[in-house]
Amino acid sequence: MINAPKGTKDILPQESFKWQFIEKTAREVATAFNIKEIRTPTFEHTEVFLRGVGEGTDIVNKEMYTFNDKGDRSITLKPEGTAGVARAFVENGLFNTSLPVKLFYITPCFRYERPQAGRMREFHQFGVELLGATNPSIDAEAIIVAKTFFDKLNVKGLKLFINSIGCKNCRSKYHQALKEYLTENKEKLCPLCKERFDKNPMRILDCKNEDCKEITKNAPSILDYICEDCSTHFNQVQNLLKVAGVEYTVDAGIVRGLDYYTKTVFEFVSTNIGAQGTVCGGGRYDSLVADLGGNDVSGIGFALGIERLLLLMENTGVEIPNENITDIYIASMGEEGSVKAFELANELRIKGVKVDIDHLNRGIKAQFKYADKIKAKFVAVVGENEIANGIIKVKNMQDGSETAVELQNFINFIVNVK
Ligand code: ATP
Ligand code: MG
Repeated sequence: MINAPKGTKDILPQESFKWQFIEKTAREVATAFNIKEIRTPTFEHTEVFLRGVGEGTDIVNKEMYTFNDKGDRSITLKPEGTAGVARAFVENGLFNTSLPVKLFYITPCFRYERPQAGRMREFHQFGVELLGATNPSIDAEAIIVAKTFFDKLNVKGLKLFINSIGCKNCRSKYHQALKEYLTENKEKLCPLCKERFDKNPMRILDCKNEDCKEITKNAPSILDYICEDCSTHFNQVQNLLKVAGVEYTVDAGIVRGLDYYTKTVFEFVSTNIGAQGTVCGGGRYDSLVADLGGNDVSGIGFALGIERLLLLMENTGVEIPNENITDIYIASMGEEGSVKAFELANELRIKGVKVDIDHLNRGIKAQFKYADKIKAKFVAVVGENEIANGIIKVKNMQDGSETAVELQNFINFIVNVK
């Protein structure tokens, strides 16, 4: 037997309906905000992520699935969605269309990580990217898209944390202050944070290592260092969140793992799914598009992990409706009956009814058992007698009641009753 690769998972029928519901909800919520779908390739030139995600990030340093293809090009399976969307934005000249360009995607992502609950090597993201607007209202809108999505799914127990990590100008002053604070404990930092110390000290605040957490506990806050412009922007984002009745906590410890973020960053975090508690992360990226060779276009977006979302919904007992339930199972007896069942099923399906029939010459009892198993809402029985008499019995499997329906009215009856 050949197993699926470590860190990947088959999504079987008993679970795929949940994915369909989540994806449908994502599309509905996106549409409510005039956000249109974009589909970018599963792999990109490695350069896209080197420039887009940034060298020195966990993703680029150790998590990418990178290989040379037969033409000796360096290719990488997308570890996240934003860089590819920004590449597509530049390449397709979306800058010259009406701004802002509001995009969403639902995509598999690939990261070489140590698999554990909520951490896979292939996982899936629902993400939103809003490009070409600098107003704080679009930051607030991005946050509210995610919040609306969670609310619509009835997800409980997610806490929203927001922060501003400033722009290039204010951040350099902060880096200096942070490094001064960290200097005396530099040797006690984890090896990765020792590297971060020079490259991007703010990322040390995001480290999950207990020693590093202890060291950074009383670190200076970025919020004391952001410039007036960044500070005003952040206040306006908060005002709009209040206007929308969105509860949030300002947490200067939220810095996000990627290089491209500026100003607003945010996370939706759960305490119900163990160590991997961040279900959704996002922020503003004012230099990403330019870093990928485009115009000076700012953007804001988020990505949320669908596996973690499902884990949270499972752990907190949120029901996900199965919208694929078969409306009617047409059981049949004898050759004539099975041909009639086949014909009726065909007609019903064309009219949008979900129908199943027997394909294994099962006895009538076994067919009922099967209908029960697939949770069919109705079962009809078609045999020689039914055809001769022109009457079909339809059983309502929910309440057990039976209705005798004239064969000529059968299609209409089912279409109306299902
Ligand atoms: P983490 O802190 O857990 O490593 P991250 O900061 O690397 O997350 P992002 O790059 O912000 O994550 O991705 C957005 C979301 O995608 C995460 O909040 C999470 O829900 C999901 N995600 C990220 N990596 C994985 C993974 N390996 N397996 C499953 N979901 C993931
Ligand atoms: Mg990660």
